[in-house]
Amino acid sequence: MCGIFGIFGHPEAANMTYLGLYALQHRGQEGAGIVSSDGRNLYSHKDTGLVADIFTADVIERLPGFAAIGHVRYSTTGESLIQNVQPIMVNYARGGMAVAHNGNLVNAATVRERLERRGSIFQSDTDTEIIVHLIARSRASSLVDRIVEALREVRGAFSLVFLTETRMVGVRDPYGFRPLILGYLKGAHILASETCALDLIGAEFVRELEPGELVLIDREGIRSFKPFEEVPHTPCIFEFIYFARPDSFIFGRNVYEVRKDLGRSLAEEHPADADMVIPVPDSGVPAAIGYSQTLGLSYEMGLIRSHYVGRTFIEPKQSIRHFGVKLKLNPVKDLLKGKRIVVVDDSIVRGTTSRKIVSMLKRGGAREVHMRIASPPTCYPCFYGIDTPTRCELIASSHSIDEIARYLGTDSLGYLSIEGLMDAVGEGTYCKACFDGSYPVPFERSQEGDQMALFR
Ligand code: 5GP
Ligand code: SF4
Ligand code: MG
Repeated sequence: MCGIFGIFGHPEAANMTYLGLYALQHRGQEGAGIVSSDGRNLYSHKDTGLVADIFTADVIERLPGFAAIGHVRYSTTGESLIQNVQPIMVNYARGGMAVAHNGNLVNAATVRERLERRGSIFQSDTDTEIIVHLIARSRASSLVDRIVEALREVRGAFSLVFLTETRMVGVRDPYGFRPLILGYLKGAHILASETCALDLIGAEFVRELEPGELVLIDREGIRSFKPFEEVPHTPCIFEFIYFARPDSFIFGRNVYEVRKDLGRSLAEEHPADADMVIPVPDSGVPAAIGYSQTLGLSYEMGLIRSHYVGRTFIEPKQSIRHFGVKLKLNPVKDLLKGKRIVVVDDSIVRGTTSRKIVSMLKRGGAREVHMRIASPPTCYPCFYGIDTPTRCELIASSHSIDEIARYLGTDSLGYLSIEGLMDAVGEGTYCKACFDGSYPVPFERSQEGDQMALFR
């Protein structure tokens, strides 16, 4: 998962990008970068860490110009190295170019091998760098044609923003896996993963890019292209469930409303006889509200979340059990004492956090703990840009609901059905492969091999 942002035609482009990335921080906390242009040169700064720590006023001073793009990076497969932080910036025969990517290419290994055999030298482990090499090798005469030629070679999920000295380009893959939206602020055009980035800088929301759409933005304005073959649209349904911010509008709907509807469906499918409904903050909040309203149960904040949990902290010498979760969440014991609780969360991945939460609630005095999950069991890994663990680590891939309930220590457990999920989300087709294993874009043998090994 990652967040991307771009702005063209603003005197403080880098500063606006910094704010945009700040609003998109939930999409990646591993690293961030900004590349700006003053029309003659590109300027870059990137580092590992959080947006607010990386970009000081001094740093932003050194990113001049009227255009900029930025990226927040999610920790994907291991390597949180600085060279993997985006945007990737290069100089090639036709000048400078930078790119920021949200998504994952499923044929990256094959294309990279082919390029390396022909002499390409890669500087990072990212699949995004492949796109840069393909563009640099293209003989096409226009920037748009070079980008399109490159993107026809790759398969998978990509929402991208490109910046050259004089132009900005935004593209959404033909399936539309990841969101990408267009905004406008006093003559400046904006591209962003989510609308919450527009709200912060006071920009207006224009529209979403369509799956397979490319927009070229320069001094003359904005032009739209549809250069790819039409395929069935499969935006990622997990954006609605977990990734996107609730105040954002993506894939035609407000995320908060969708999550409340998920809670409503969940209440219809799995009601509970209980004294109160509590969310696992923050991800379970809207669904818990929808759940409690549907059943007329009282809604309480029975778990309080610390919003100041940093990356590193000094552990006491004598180990404290469940330190990790305790640091982030603490039960309100006087509220819970002797009560029958429904606890609502958006999803269960490994089950390790949920288990600690259940035991925390019981030790806090709750008489019964009924867990409700506002999505179906996550049984399959994602190959389209979400760092889900391998199949064997997904608790629902190898355990029945009863077995999971026993592991978590709950008095009952209810997951939303796939039908209930589709009903809550409403119109449209979606990727929901992590629930039903039906992958819209086939992935490579090598990746499949990794997964197949888990069945042994
Ligand atoms: P578990 O009980 O599986 O250890 O953790 C469940 C929690 O993980 C839920 O609260 C859910 O919001 C969160 N979660 C779901 N998907 C992801 C993800 O891709 N990354 C992170 N960091 N958390 C996730
Ligand atoms: Fe989203 Fe799941 Fe599809 Fe990945 S597999 S794109 S997380 S719906
Ligand atoms: Mg959560």
